[in-house]
Amino acid sequence: MRRPANAMTVYQAKRLGIRNFSLLVSHVLVPPAIAAIMESPRCRVQAFLAAGHVCSVMGTAEYPPLALKYGVPIVVTGFEPLDILEGIRQTVVQLETGRHELVNAYPRAVLPSGNLAALAMLRDVFEVTDRTWRGIGMIPSSGWRLAEKYRDFDAEVRFDVGAVTTAESSLCRSGEVLQGLIKPHGCAAFGRECTPRNPLGATMVSSEGACAAYYAYRRLS
Ligand code: SF4
Repeated sequence: MRRPANAMTVYQAKRLGIRNFSLLVSHVLVPPAIAAIMESPRCRVQAFLAAGHVCSVMGTAEYPPLALKYGVPIVVTGFEPLDILEGIRQTVVQLETGRHELVNAYPRAVLPSGNLAALAMLRDVFEVTDRTWRGIGMIPSSGWRLAEKYRDFDAEVRFDVGAVTTAESSLCRSGEVLQGLIKPHGCAAFGRECTPRNPLGATMVSSEGACAAYYAYRRLS
């Protein structure tokens, strides 16, 4: 969760009058992405583990309406192995008992209200904008950009790179992975053209991504 640190950096840069600093912002918001995935008619996702580090800052208030609207359990989960297992356990319990609620399985780090000081900093420095997600496409109001009063630090504006687009690999099926339509190893590029050292899609980039996790924990025998 780099957003609060980035927000504080921009805030300090403005306060100190630093001119040779800029930020190319690509921060995203999770709830609109969950809604976009669930709106897809082909979506097979049955539940979500909400990332604990994000919720520790953002809080959990946006999740109960999503769980209710789309009939999916959402379980806030930490990153230690036992946290992951507990998140999965609580998800399975909900699925088996026909419930779909928000559950916070990471209460030692996550408060429903989030981190109020960090949220105040975020709301001062950033504003919500539309964002294009690799593998999914544009999702309205799903990203952040620098607010007007910090626009001098916005690399997109300063260096006029807002129109630059990235070409997605024609081999990548991360959109289908994200919708639960295929497992990562169902992609022909998995472990061949696409590895964590040479990722073709977002789900192979970070260690939390489904393709990277399948690659790290695949059985080699
Ligand atoms: S294995 Fe790589 S190419 Fe295939 S879906 Fe995952 S990220 Fe995309």
